[in-house]
Amino acid sequence: MDKELSATNQTRPSSLQAAIVYFSDPDRCFAHAMAMHWPDGKITCPRCGAEKHSFISTRKIWWCCACKKQFTVKVGTIFEDSPLGMDKWMTAVWLICNCKNGISSYEIARDIHITQKSAWFMLHRIRRAMQSGSFVRLSGEVEVDETFIGGKARNMHKGKRAEKIQGRGPEGKEIVFGMVERGGKVIAGHMDTRKKRDLQPIIREHIEAGSAILSDELKSYEGLVADYQHAVINHAVEYANGNVHTNTMENFWSLLKRGLHGTYISVEPFHLFRYIDEQAFRYNNRKDTDADRFTGVMNNASGKRLTWKELTGKLQDDRTCLD
Ligand SMILES: [Zn+2]
Repeated sequence: MDKELSATNQTRPSSLQAAIVYFSDPDRCFAHAMAMHWPDGKITCPRCGAEKHSFISTRKIWWCCACKKQFTVKVGTIFEDSPLGMDKWMTAVWLICNCKNGISSYEIARDIHITQKSAWFMLHRIRRAMQSGSFVRLSGEVEVDETFIGGKARNMHKGKRAEKIQGRGPEGKEIVFGMVERGGKVIAGHMDTRKKRDLQPIIREHIEAGSAILSDELKSYEGLVADYQHAVINHAVEYANGNVHTNTMENFWSLLKRGLHGTYISVEPFHLFRYIDEQAFRYNNRKDTDADRFTGVMNNASGKRLTWKELTGKLQDDRTCLD
C-alpha cells in the first residue's frame, strides 16, 4: 500500500479531464482517499483511534482489533454512509471546487451518472467541507457591503409568496453582508437585517481595529470612525473616489450572483449560507491551483458529517432540492 500511496502523490491530476480519468480507476481512487484521510500514512480506527487492525483487501474495509468494528475510508467524513464510490465523490469534489460559478446537481447527475437528488445531497456534503474551519481576521484596507439575493417570489404560489414578500430585505429578498480585505480574503454571510446592531458586532469581531474600512453611506456603519479609518462612498453620486470604493466587494457579489442566478437558479433561503460559503471558498483560494483546492477540500472532509435530516430540516416540500 505504501508504494501505491507514494505513486498517488507523484501523479496528482492537474486538470478536470485528467481528474476524471484518474478517479475512474477504483484502486487508485481508494489509495488517494486513504492518503487524504490519513496524511501521515498511519491508519487509525475512526471510532476508537486504535492502530491495530486487519485489512480485508477484497472489500476495502478494515476490522479494528480493539473495538471489533469494521471501518472504511469514508467513516468519520462527509462521505460516510454514502453508497456512492469514491471515484464519483472525487470527481464531484473536483468539479465544485474548480467551477467558477459553481455546478448544479443536474450537471453533476449527468456527469457522474447518479440521480439529481443524490447529486444535490452530495454537493451539500461537499459544501460542508468547503466551510472555513478557522477564524479569519481582516486588516489593511477592508471593504464592507451588503447585497440582496432573491427574485424567487415571482415563481411562487400565492401563500408562499405572501410569506416571502413580508420577508426581510426589500421585496422579500434575502440580505447578504460581506467584508473583503483588498488582495486578501472575503467573509460573507446571510443576515436577518442590515441594522447597525447586527452589522457592527460582526465588523468589530472580524476587522482589526485601526484598519481602513470602506463602505457605502448606509447608516448602519455610522460610529465605526471611533475604532477605524472609515471612508464612505456615496453611490448615489459616484462609484469610486480615488481609493474609496467597494469594487472588490462588488466583484464578489457578481460571482455569487452568477452562481445563484445562472447555475443554481432555485435556492431556498434556508440553504443560502451554504452557497455563500462555497463561493467564499473558491474566492479565498483563488490563487491556488485546481489540484490545491481539491486537496484542501479533501483534507477538510474528516470530522464533518451532514445527514439528510440536518440538511433538509423543516423543508420537506418539492422545492427543497431543485438547485
Ligand atoms: Zn476501533
